[in-house]
Amino acid sequence: MTETGIFDTHAHYHDRRFSSEESGVPAVDELLSSLFADNICGITGIGTDVETSLEAIALAERYPHMYAAVGMYPGSCPIPFDAGKTQELIAEFGRMLSHPKVVAIGEIGLDFHYDDVPRDIQQLWFDRQMQLAGETGMPVVIHDREAHGAVMDTLCRYPGVKGILHSFSGSAEMAEQLVKMGWYISVSGVVTFKNARRLLEAVERVPLDFLLVETDCPYLTPHPHRGKTNHSGYLPYTVSRIAEIKGVSYEEVCRATRENARRVFRIME
Ligand SMILES: [Zn+2]
Repeated sequence: MTETGIFDTHAHYHDRRFSSEESGVPAVDELLSSLFADNICGITGIGTDVETSLEAIALAERYPHMYAAVGMYPGSCPIPFDAGKTQELIAEFGRMLSHPKVVAIGEIGLDFHYDDVPRDIQQLWFDRQMQLAGETGMPVVIHDREAHGAVMDTLCRYPGVKGILHSFSGSAEMAEQLVKMGWYISVSGVVTFKNARRLLEAVERVPLDFLLVETDCPYLTPHPHRGKTNHSGYLPYTVSRIAEIKGVSYEEVCRATRENARRVFRIME
């Protein structure tokens, strides 16, 4: 088991941005090799539909400390809703879960910020995938954007399913309730932004044993690198800010979030 380093619980290294010239970062294989050689001890690549889930698995097969989550992101749900086709796709995700590097179902959830996919279709897919998690015992990675009430209602309907609230954006009270229910709160680079008051309060309130860190790269680059392509090499900014908020050492935040990541994803090595 790696005794040092930071675990990035949410990344999209299969994203086209990582293979484009304009990204300003090295090609993805060069980038990942240098991250794992440096201070990154684990990364979970997150799928957003069938294709990107398979891409996340392919990347995980190439690096011993890379893992994958597979699932249908709310903004990727096919329109119109087709029950038969949905059943086929759910079965396909179900088969992916038996891959040894697949550690979660995700990202799944609700996004009420973008209206591309009708909310009822997002909800149907969210429920189907929560049911899959219930049947298989896999943890889930939840995307919740401006949908806190509906997300909480859904999580409460599946008390046996646990996992991660990714790039948490709810209130301190919501975070506290989630922790009581056994959920982990994942903190992105947003915590380094000047206007991160709400997230700061949530981080203050959540015990270190329930916190995780993530990039959500290529998005959500921490201050002072906002505007650049995000990658796991910027995680120290996020860890430092959490250490400051919690009044503990940088190393302690690395250790706790690393151990929490291994616990939620059930990584044994
Ligand atoms: Zn994401």
